[in-house]
Amino acid sequence: MIISTVCLSTNSYFMIGPLGALTLAMGVSLFYAWRDARLRPPRRRTRLYQCRECRQVYEDRRNVPLATCPQCGAFNEAVRR
Ligand SMILES: [Zn+2]
Repeated sequence: MIISTVCLSTNSYFMIGPLGALTLAMGVSLFYAWRDARLRPPRRRTRLYQCRECRQVYEDRRNVPLATCPQCGAFNEAVRR
């Protein structure tokens, strides 16, 4: 009983090293993921359209491939996401 407890505590004592290294690696990777996400510009939710008829530039939040021009009502493809 006492021997098994000592064995277990010895095993867990030897696990501190690898676990610490693993925790450190996870912490470092999380830090870099957080830093990269912070440096990257936020994703644009709206799509940009330019009308072929009247050259009006407008955006639509619905994320559809074709959107009607607010000025003349013509269908236009998205210029940029
Ligand atoms: Zn138009």
